Amino acid sequence: MPHLDPDRLSLLALYDNWADDEGREHLRSCAECQADFAALRRAVDAMKTTPDAADLEAPGPHVWAGIHRDLGLSRAVQNDPLATAPDAAQLPARTPLPERTLRPVPRPPQGGSAPVQVPARDAPRRAAWWQRPGPWLAAAAATLLVAAGTVWTLSRGPEPVAQADLAPLAQYSATGSAAVLRAPDGTRSLQVKLSKDEARGYQEVWLIAPDLSRLVSLGVMNSASGTFEVPAGLDLADFPIVDVSDEPLDGNPGHSSVSIVRGTLTS
Ligand SMILES: [Zn+2]
Repeated sequence: MPHLDPDRLSLLALYDNWADDEGREHLRSCAECQADFAALRRAVDAMKTTPDAADLEAPGPHVWAGIHRDLGLSRAVQNDPLATAPDAAQLPARTPLPERTLRPVPRPPQGGSAPVQVPARDAPRRAAWWQRPGPWLAAAAATLLVAAGTVWTLSRGPEPVAQADLAPLAQYSATGSAAVLRAPDGTRSLQVKLSKDEARGYQEVWLIAPDLSRLVSLGVMNSASGTFEVPAGLDLADFPIVDVSDEPLDGNPGHSSVSIVRGTLTS
C-alpha cells in the first residue's frame, strides 16, 4: 500500500473516530506516516486546547476574510460576523463577564428549613456563536491543517524508489544515471541524466524486460537529460532495464537496435 495522502492523514488526525480502518492499519506499520500523523496531531491538539478567553483579542475583518477565502466558504457567510454584530463595539473578550454570585434567599414565611443559598438568576447570558472562542478556533484549526498539509506535501515531495547507473555500449562513450521517483499521489517518473547527447538521429528512452523480448517506449529525449512518466500499473520488476537508443528519422516506431547507454534499475 502506498503512503497515506495528506487529505487522509489530516482527517485521521482531526477525527478520532474517522472511519478509515485501512488507513489506521497502514499507520500502525509505517513509521514515516506515523511521523507525519504525529506532526498533524500536535497541530490539532494545540488548537483544541482551551485558551484563557480573557487574553483573546478581537480579530479584525481581515481575519475572517482570510478564513473565508482559504476555506472556500459560500457567499452567504462572506460578511465578517464581528463587523455585522449589533454590539460589535463591546466585544466579549474586552468585557469581563459578571461573576456568578451567590446570595441568600429569604427564609420561607413558614420557617422550619435552614437558610439555603442558590445561584443568582442574573448569570451571564449565553454568548452568540461568534462571541465564543469555539467556532473561531475550529476555523483557525482548519486553516492551520490546510497550511500544514500543504507544507507537508511540499516537504515530502517525490521519493526515489529505484535507480540505475547507465553505461555506454559499443561505439559510444556517454555515461549517466536513471532514477524512478514516486510522487505522494503514487505517480512514478523516470529521470534520465547523461553526460552528453551522442545520438546521430535522436535519443529515445525505453524500459526493457530482462530477456530483451519486450520493451516499453517512454519517449524522446532531445538533450542530455529528461523526465518521463512511467505508465501506471507497469511493474518495474518486469521491465528493469533502462535503455537510451539512437533512432534514425525513418518513421519506424520500434527500437533501432542501436543503444547508446543501458543500465538495470535496483531499488
Ligand atoms: Zn506510509
